[in-house]
Amino acid sequence: MSEEKRRNLVEALELEGVIKSPSVKRAMLKVPREEFIPPEYRDEAYEDHPLPIPGNQTISAPHMCAIMCEAASLSRGDTLLEIGTGSGYHIALCAEIISPSGESVEGTIVSIELVKQLAYYARDNLKRTGYYDRVHLLVADGSLGAPVRKGYQFGKIIVTAAAPRIPPPLIEQLADKGVMVIPVGPRWQQVLLAVNRDGDKIAYRHITYCVFVSLRGRYGHHDGSREDRG
Ligand code: SAH
Repeated sequence: MSEEKRRNLVEALELEGVIKSPSVKRAMLKVPREEFIPPEYRDEAYEDHPLPIPGNQTISAPHMCAIMCEAASLSRGDTLLEIGTGSGYHIALCAEIISPSGESVEGTIVSIELVKQLAYYARDNLKRTGYYDRVHLLVADGSLGAPVRKGYQFGKIIVTAAAPRIPPPLIEQLADKGVMVIPVGPRWQQVLLAVNRDGDKIAYRHITYCVFVSLRGRYGHHDGSREDRG
């Protein structure tokens, strides 16, 4: 049942030109989105819209996940930092692209979640679906980048929460010739940007308009709640 709905959705996204590369298509066909959402929404797993997950957050719509993977040119063997683990669905897709046969990727696929409850939720979802071994999950303020040794950089960075501006620590952690995909703008509408580094030069490409939940923490949106103070 789910597999047929998944295939129909993936074929529709391919026809629309959202899914372009075979590796993104393969990952979207493989990762079971229904396992990353609360049971009451499982019937809607293959409808192309965001869905609620615990903590008042949302799992992005499938087309947005595909757009982000394509915009990052995510490929086998990449090093990746994701900010905003949420349900774990998007990082599972990324792990399926970076390590399609489950080959060792120790410490090179990192996902950071601010809310502990969601990190546990993602951990359980990733364990159940067989992706946990490929992903390094951390509970921290991802707007500060990953707690890596000084100078360590990622080839790809994907931010799945909306930032008021690009957090400077993320630019620092983006490798030469690397790509960061990030929604930037006010709370209710943002522009999805692909940020390319070429030496000291940073180029920005506008991909699409979008609406993401807010990035919080030091370089996120602030609404005055305790959790938001960086
Ligand atoms: N990628 C997720 C969707 C994420 S929703 C998925 O596939 O389900 C955005 C997530 O970003 C939420 O879980 C939210 O708690 C988290 N978040 C917000 N600010 C953050 C920060 N500063 N650091 C890390 N995670 C953050």
